[in-house]
Amino acid sequence: AGSGVSEAELEAGRRAYELDRKHVFHSWSAQEQIKPMTVIRAEGSYVWDGEGNRLLDFSSQLVNTNIGHQHPKVVAAIQEQAGKLCTIAPQFANDARSEAARLVAELTPGELDKVFFTNGGADAVEHAIRMARLHTGRYKVLSAYRSYHGGTALAVNVTGDPRRIANDYGNAGTVHFHAPFLYRSQFHAATEAEETQRALEHLETTIQLEGADRFAAIILESIPGTAGIMVPPPGYLQGVRELATKYGMMFIADEVMAGFGRSGKWFAIDHFDVVPDLLTFAKGVNSGYVPLGGVAISPEIYATFADRPYPGGLTYSGHPLACAAAVATINAMREERMVEHAADLGETVFGPGLAELAAKHSSIGEVRGVGAFWAIELVKNQQTREPMAAYGGSSPAMNELIAACKSRGLLPFANFNRIHVVPPLNISAEDARAGLAILDEALEATDRHVES
Ligand code: PMP
Repeated sequence: AGSGVSEAELEAGRRAYELDRKHVFHSWSAQEQIKPMTVIRAEGSYVWDGEGNRLLDFSSQLVNTNIGHQHPKVVAAIQEQAGKLCTIAPQFANDARSEAARLVAELTPGELDKVFFTNGGADAVEHAIRMARLHTGRYKVLSAYRSYHGGTALAVNVTGDPRRIANDYGNAGTVHFHAPFLYRSQFHAATEAEETQRALEHLETTIQLEGADRFAAIILESIPGTAGIMVPPPGYLQGVRELATKYGMMFIADEVMAGFGRSGKWFAIDHFDVVPDLLTFAKGVNSGYVPLGGVAISPEIYATFADRPYPGGLTYSGHPLACAAAVATINAMREERMVEHAADLGETVFGPGLAELAAKHSSIGEVRGVGAFWAIELVKNQQTREPMAAYGGSSPAMNELIAACKSRGLLPFANFNRIHVVPPLNISAEDARAGLAILDEALEATDRHVES
């Protein structure tokens, strides 16, 4: 609809690029080495670049716009809220915040019925850890090596991803461990059952060696996202829940990326029938239309702060525009059955479609995922499983693959040696298949770099 790009839009795009290069400092980048793509328009599962080319958004903008771009119900809700009340300090009650909290409490598992709102994912993680520390009176935190929990000081410290290392200001009590990842098993496991058992043994040994009575929390992405979409094998998260209870530490499920329908259930932890003590969310809660994150809190942790002040807060906690967007997003997801659609896409399009690509392309080591949350792991050699780019790095082969996708009209999410297939949850099956067909052609780029 309305896809003819005007000369005025193109001109605005050219000016945006010019000013960007003059004045904008970009995340995670060597500033003079980058050429940011300009986006002049977005709608549904599509974005338009600075030349007016339409690209299918298989990235959801950092796995964020679960309901696609410019959803009319959410745009209208933000406009309506802006006409009523644009901002209010956190100590006042407000209808947008109250209703967003009610919906989050209703959707989260167990009795996580109290919600603290933040501006995004990293500060949700920071506050969840702070709550766990104050509740337990302990300091140390367990976190997986292959994880991403955010870019602020503590969130990047608990992150396992190598980007943590460039931010190493000393250890804030974090102890890293290996979570299960059968394809690159640290435990020499051959089956999921072995991987689960050995990963749990490794975790318990780590706890004992680091001080069984020292841990405030274990933080885990229910399904690790940025680090590679490794769906935990059966029994693992149940085992973690048991160890957390046994050693008196809080289980923080980080659902910033996996939550709000991405995995084909409202929360990824719902696949495992486990209830954490704290659950962090952001991104999909309102598809990033206005920055919002938060922590859903158990009754036990809530009780700690019943008669003792919680020492923490943010000016924009529960911002009305962000909360109005969350209410409209969640309602639209329900009305339009987007979570069910994502589950169905996983089973009928992405699962079988990606398996077909894996059978065909010599550079694919593994495909894995669920719902609208999939990773393609690229390797130089299927036997040795040597990654197409190092963990934490890039490579000409990966850059060629990304360029091949873009030139064919697909905007991918790329991370190290992986392409993630993470489109909006409401992408049509037809567009989803069209995206896979583009990947099929583009993967010739990495196939050429396979070393036998
Ligand atoms: N946790 C997880 C699991 C994430 O994927 C991210 C962002 N990719 C964060 C936390 C940090 O969120 P934000 O960038 O909104 O601070």
